[in-house]
Amino acid sequence: MTEFFNQVSRRKFIVTAGISTSAVLLKGCLVNPPETGNTGRKSSIEPVANIKPEQKPETTKAKLGYIPIVESAPLIIAQEKGFFAKYGMTEVELSKQASWGSARDNLEIGSQGGGIDGGQWQMPMPHLITEGLITKGNKPIPMYVLAQLVTHGNGIAIANKHLGKGISLKLDTAKPLLSQLKSANTPFTAAFTFPHVNQDLWLRYWLSASGIDPDTDVKLLTVPAAQTVANMKTGTMDAFSTGDPWPFRLVNDKIGFMAALTAEIWKNHPEEYFAMRGDWVDQNPKATKALLKGIMEAQQWLDKFENRQEAAEILAVKKYFGLSSPQVLANPYQGKYDMGDGRKIDDKSMAAYYWKDEKGSVSYPYQSHDLWFITENVRWGFLPKDYITNGAAKAKELIKKVNREDIWQEAAKELGIAATDIPSSKSRGVETFFDGIKFDPEKPEEYLKSLKIKKAGI
Ligand code: CA
Repeated sequence: MTEFFNQVSRRKFIVTAGISTSAVLLKGCLVNPPETGNTGRKSSIEPVANIKPEQKPETTKAKLGYIPIVESAPLIIAQEKGFFAKYGMTEVELSKQASWGSARDNLEIGSQGGGIDGGQWQMPMPHLITEGLITKGNKPIPMYVLAQLVTHGNGIAIANKHLGKGISLKLDTAKPLLSQLKSANTPFTAAFTFPHVNQDLWLRYWLSASGIDPDTDVKLLTVPAAQTVANMKTGTMDAFSTGDPWPFRLVNDKIGFMAALTAEIWKNHPEEYFAMRGDWVDQNPKATKALLKGIMEAQQWLDKFENRQEAAEILAVKKYFGLSSPQVLANPYQGKYDMGDGRKIDDKSMAAYYWKDEKGSVSYPYQSHDLWFITENVRWGFLPKDYITNGAAKAKELIKKVNREDIWQEAAKELGIAATDIPSSKSRGVETFFDGIKFDPEKPEEYLKSLKIKKAGI
């Protein structure tokens, strides 16, 4: 293990004398539960009347953006079950974002300007925003990654007109179809909801693993989720990469089928993250940890399978996901996927996890995963290769700035999380993909060299 991933918390975020478990405090001094959210649900959690003075948040307010897919569940559950309020964040406002582009724009404005302070992000959006690569006028806006929200829960949907043509996790038998579409000037067209991040990267990994060049053999483009579904219905869109409940909806409405779950592409993969504006965190370090504690508690609650029917009912309401029935979420939440092509998955290990999975912590933001997302951005020419050459010094410098796993660690300790649930390394180690390719975070340049299809000249 190199020094980069092994070093202990480089910054002491805030002095946390007399760390205690909040659970102890909870037993006494209870006041009436607050009304949370606008759904009229009463919180089942009572707020702590006497939060330790040194942990009292600087503000009770935060405005968090989310996109209505399973990734946002920890934020919504923390709000609806009163976990934010429990740690003193009694005025959290959740703001549904129309698209990832508007989330980015709202973050730029900040809550003072009517935007947001942070929330749910695809990766590596916080890094790209910090670098000023996707902001207006290329203005750098420092962001901090504070927790991973979820693993799994995403997939690649294909329009029904392609049923039975070999489009699956592996695409070997579908190659003639793709070449035929390309020569007819109607290339296989696949959509994602924001460029250069998770959904784009899952599509690219999936295609290139079967020898299909995503930049020349097919057409990839950014399309809002609702429009993609409409386009799939009318036959102008061939594929769509996104999170639940969209895949299940497409299958349910007989618009499409699932070629692959992201859980099949990379078991226990990093998915979306909780990140905030850096200036908000710097001004509100205790409130940041209070938010994190609320999210961590929501993640633990969500991982209990007996809570998942209730979770689906909370998320399904109009204000949040607006689903016709909670079952659209409840089935995938139990690891039950009707793939729509005759394949049925019934395996709890394929379900979304929020707190822990087979590989350990889901919530902890491993810096080795940030490095994979940045490496893939270099692979496809979205970032210059000097991020990864020279021992990835430039990527590591950026990750050190953006990934604040130290704050996660402090919040976890204040929450009384068992030491066994707090990772001791910033790297999860070598990762293996469905095609046998391995990513060793110690050697990202070698990973790029090993890949046949790429844009980067490495
Ligand atoms: Ca996603």
